[in-house]
Amino acid sequence: MGTTEAHAPEHHSFQAEVSQVLDLVIHSLYSHREVFLRELISNASDAIDKLRFRSVTEAGLMGEEPLRIRLIPDEAAGTLTIDDNGVGMTHDELIEHLGTIASSGSKKFLESLKAKGGKPDLTLIGQFGVGFYASWLVADRVSVVSRAAGSEEAWRWSSNAKDGFDLEPATRETRGTSVILHLKEDQKDFLQSWQLRDLVQKYSDFVGHPIEMAAEKEEPKEGEEPRAEEPAFEAINQARALWQRPRSEITDEQYKDFYKHLTNDWEEPLAWAHFKVEGSQEFTGLLYLPRRPPFEMDTPGEGRRGVKLFVKRVFIMDNCDALVPLWLRFVRGLIDSDDLPLNVSRETLQDSAVVRAIKKQVARKTLDRLDELAKESPEDYATFWAQFGKVVKEGLHLDYEYRERLGTLVRFESSHGDGITSLAEYVGRMKEGQEAIYYSIGETRQAAAKSPHLEALRERGYEVLYLFDPIDTLAADGLKEFQGKKLVNVAMADLKLDASPEAKQSEEAAAGALKPLIERVKSVLGSRVREVRSSSRLKDSPACLVVPPGAMNPAMERLLRANGREVPPSARVLELNPTHPLMEAIQARAASGDESLDEWIELLYDQALLTEGSTPDDPHRFAQRMTDLMQRALANKA
Ligand code: ADP
Repeated sequence: MGTTEAHAPEHHSFQAEVSQVLDLVIHSLYSHREVFLRELISNASDAIDKLRFRSVTEAGLMGEEPLRIRLIPDEAAGTLTIDDNGVGMTHDELIEHLGTIASSGSKKFLESLKAKGGKPDLTLIGQFGVGFYASWLVADRVSVVSRAAGSEEAWRWSSNAKDGFDLEPATRETRGTSVILHLKEDQKDFLQSWQLRDLVQKYSDFVGHPIEMAAEKEEPKEGEEPRAEEPAFEAINQARALWQRPRSEITDEQYKDFYKHLTNDWEEPLAWAHFKVEGSQEFTGLLYLPRRPPFEMDTPGEGRRGVKLFVKRVFIMDNCDALVPLWLRFVRGLIDSDDLPLNVSRETLQDSAVVRAIKKQVARKTLDRLDELAKESPEDYATFWAQFGKVVKEGLHLDYEYRERLGTLVRFESSHGDGITSLAEYVGRMKEGQEAIYYSIGETRQAAAKSPHLEALRERGYEVLYLFDPIDTLAADGLKEFQGKKLVNVAMADLKLDASPEAKQSEEAAAGALKPLIERVKSVLGSRVREVRSSSRLKDSPACLVVPPGAMNPAMERLLRANGREVPPSARVLELNPTHPLMEAIQARAASGDESLDEWIELLYDQALLTEGSTPDDPHRFAQRMTDLMQRALANKA
């Protein structure tokens, strides 16, 4: 590959932005220097892809030699060569691509550095795909010998990065490009074959083309002459991305092994979905549902690994949040896009239309797989739900778009039995005349189940869902209805239950009798309650608080307060049970003008607060009244 003609090489200057990028790269103290290899392999792989693409229309371009990338370390020369038999570059292309036209990546890279106050943070270099220039992380001189496909000429481009670059004719037997890195003195480690194999496995194992290295030479056996021929090359990557193979060719074992390889999870996945999306966006997805949450699921940032992003089989980044809705953050696996540029960064992903389209498909495919799992193996689905149900429920709150689909996947505990139930099952069990899906909110399952609000429903044999996780309230609020049936909080003031005309009549009569007491209660509690009225929902309890229309329910208030939001206290409606013996007794006292009645009313109100999960306004005063009451009751007994 020597110079074939005697005249002096052409000299070119780098475009200004390229110079700046190079300057940063050369002077950086960046420690992850190995990224250069991923970048150069990815360029080589692109060049092969381009050749493949062109050979579709240009017969004879491909030739005989199988497509491959080669890594050739040369200890004696101190060089590492990355060689490919891809599309190659012409004289003009070498000038344009490797120095005089700044790629959009270099511009963005420089912009991002400026935005960060000009401090070079080279962790970005990989993301901005100013790939070729990453060579200078490890080399002080770089030569590129390239022969474009279909051309007889080869050219050598060379540069020390400081004084522009030179171009001169060269010889190269076949089509393709060799990038020859003259390694810096302290970067000679990259000549070691194990080091290169390791890096390929780490970053480029799934590049769709073979990455080859010389096979380790066998020591000559005793008495044999050492063999003189060139060593054979062997592929050091798998060369064919698992997810690029047709599903029919992949065994369950391979899927499971790949999952472990990808995630470092020692357990097998619960299920997976492998799909190819075609059309305006083309990408392949291989998504896994783990059995258990990774410990870092709820700590956003470095440690998390969710879905990896590949672009054309080249690994781009771990834990690509932008591809997955927050409420599916337990999903693991990868997306391999054909449309995104290799130089995507986390920042640019956020506002990419391609990414938004992928994210939608990721949600859809995951939900499809969950539907299937729920139908085909309810046990596995229950395992899944126990681990990740809470996270999925966030979707009902966050993503209106998936409300209906999530409605079929969501599970709750209910008065029907011990386990969980789907809403479809609930609807299937609804009674004649039952119009809505009812739920009761409590701090615990017990509190939700024992709420006084349930009494009238229980009497009618209506099933009630128990919501006792903070997210449940938000989920029910987001879902609103299922199969045309409204989800109704039993604590709402406007809860309407069907009743026979006779029942209605006797309720009205009782309510009428309660009127004087209601007036008294109103005057004692004042603005603490919005309204006091006779109740039709209570059977065993004397009183309860209900939420007026448009007001926030107490569980939501508590949730917001727990999250540091200021929520002003909201007055609720106090309902009194006209048929409860206590009410009758209190009424009798009211009529006789008993002064201590006010204390009883306070106690009744505090009790109602306690049963809805709130704390009495003055717990100390509440305790005093209770003590007082007990003393009196015991004194009477004596
Ligand atoms: P990017 O690959 O992100 O475009 P690079 O700086 O890595 O940015 O490369 C610039 C351009 O140089 C590429 O777009 C490609 O056209 C050309 N190039 C780089 N390496 C090769 C190669 N091995 N074979 C052919 N062309 C290459």
